[in-house]
Amino acid sequence: MELATGGAVNQMSILVLNAGSSTLKYALFDDAANTELAGGVIDWHDSDSSATFHFRTSGNEDSHTTVGSSDYRGAVNEILDRLTANGINKPVKAVGHRIVHGGPALNQPVLIDDRVCEELKQISTLAPLHNPPALAAVKAARKVFPGAVHIAVFDTSFYSTLPRHEVVYPLPYQWFEEYGIRRYGFHGISHAYCAKRAAEILKRQDDPNLRLIICHLGNGCSATAVRGEQPVATTMGFTPLEGLMMGTRSGSIDPGILLHLMEQHDMKGDHLDEILNRQSGLLGISGVSSDFREVEQSAIAGHKRASLAIEMFATRIRSAIGAFAVTLGGIDALIFTAGIGEHSQTLRSRVCAGLQALNVLLDENKNRESSADSDIAHADSTSRILVIRTQEEHSIACASQRFLTDLC
Ligand code: AMP
Repeated sequence: MELATGGAVNQMSILVLNAGSSTLKYALFDDAANTELAGGVIDWHDSDSSATFHFRTSGNEDSHTTVGSSDYRGAVNEILDRLTANGINKPVKAVGHRIVHGGPALNQPVLIDDRVCEELKQISTLAPLHNPPALAAVKAARKVFPGAVHIAVFDTSFYSTLPRHEVVYPLPYQWFEEYGIRRYGFHGISHAYCAKRAAEILKRQDDPNLRLIICHLGNGCSATAVRGEQPVATTMGFTPLEGLMMGTRSGSIDPGILLHLMEQHDMKGDHLDEILNRQSGLLGISGVSSDFREVEQSAIAGHKRASLAIEMFATRIRSAIGAFAVTLGGIDALIFTAGIGEHSQTLRSRVCAGLQALNVLLDENKNRESSADSDIAHADSTSRILVIRTQEEHSIACASQRFLTDLC
């Protein structure tokens, strides 16, 4: 198998690409996927023609600059240039790509070839915010790193053991059998990592009875109930649109609303798709932003719809926690992760304000001073409350490394 441009095997590296609708997160790891050598994010949020390029190396401060790249090919080249300029010259032996939706067939890491690219293209409509940019990043990276092994790691893999009563929707059963209408579940790379990390923190690894509720709250949001590191229920479904309210996505709504809009207001599928995926959620309600920090600041300044958006956001998370507590028969630990879950003490406080009925009690001082991977529960709480820094890129690097080992 041809690898990247020469070099001894132990001097090689694994690159991870995690493409979103307007960002490309990246991280370079050593050959064994133990140490992150460099990483960052390229962000096109504020402009179509230029991007903000964040770059960090181990031991160094973050730097950010504006670059002209407006597409994934330019962005991947930019990453390569920046690594070289910083003296990080280890040839890339593998590129691990985060792919949100693997559809019915792809539920384990796979080698990306033309056939897999075609398969990913076919299922792109199931995750319109995620799969098309991921595919664009795959194409760009295959051009920039033609000698590397490209591996797809799927968000949906973690949920391949979900119980059937969670997988099937209460629709005609033939739709499940003939059309493949079923729950897949997403953010699996993050939820799997958090489940493992929580078990370590609680010193309950290999305990099949450990009951966790993980709230991944970023631009996309989902909650998953986990027993003994296996998922038993999750809020996202056939697509990453179901479940909790998100930055621009509605989450669950009455499907009758869509029928009404189609019949009475002549709205078509592509228009509804745009509204539900890109113009709803925190953005749709607040009218301010999809970014939680900006909505929070507006709410503090007295913006009523921003306050409403945050109350709705927290209420829906609480409802999911309540439902999952019943599914699991109790909670050993509630976990907050991703941008909002990890960083917003006010959101954590609002969510936990309704959980006294479950005797899930927050310690406000610990909440204020929380750091990554810490316990912020009150001493009287029957459940732990953990803030965990999710490690999606590192998990993808490890999965890629395992894949390469199995391949050899
Ligand atoms: P992610 O998708 O995990 O990168 O998370 C993005 C979300 O996290 C955005 O809504 C951000 O506003 C939010 N976020 C990031 N940092 C903070 C912070 N310090 N306080 C509140 N929200 C934050």
